Amino acid sequence: MSPKKRSLGLRTRENKAVFMDRDGVIIKEVNYLSRVEDMTVIPGVADAIAKLREAGFKAIIISNQSAVARGLLSLSGLKEITRVLRADLLKQNLAAKLDAVYYCPHHPDFDKSCACRKPEIGLILKAQKKFNIDLKSSYFIGDSSVDIFAARRAGCIPLLVRTGKAGKDGLYHEKPQKTFKSFPEAVSWVLRQ
Ligand SMILES: [Mg+2]
Ligand SMILES: [Zn+2]
Repeated sequence: MSPKKRSLGLRTRENKAVFMDRDGVIIKEVNYLSRVEDMTVIPGVADAIAKLREAGFKAIIISNQSAVARGLLSLSGLKEITRVLRADLLKQNLAAKLDAVYYCPHHPDFDKSCACRKPEIGLILKAQKKFNIDLKSSYFIGDSSVDIFAARRAGCIPLLVRTGKAGKDGLYHEKPQKTFKSFPEAVSWVLRQ
């Protein structure tokens, strides 16, 4: 790296983020959500996202959507669900803007192995590069052991919520830093740190 680039790097401020799973965390868990009509934002989530952003956090969804690999949902269908989710959040609170939404559409049994399906951390690293995120001071709010494991591997702070799968999927045995009733309660705690 040239000295010039290095000094530019030093001047760049690092951002903190709250990464969040989508299903069972900010919207109600539905097996392989494929229809916009079946999407329900969990109460209090829009206001919580707004508060996070006002406190300077990037709000970023990191979600496995193997419904695509399974042939239950098209990529354009997934895009439409995301558009409506963003619109619903903004309707509830004008400041509830998601900075980014990252999906893994794959599944090893249906199309291919990849570096983006949690507990792989490809999507977290992609976000980290794009937004210059300091992972150590960032959080991951999830409802499954897969989220908790991915968060640990990426070096951010894993928080579990008791909505959705409530950590009972039993796939990994990584412990969260803390457990909360729901996403809004996890966010209130993050904002007190
Ligand atoms: Mg989930
Ligand atoms: Zn993937």
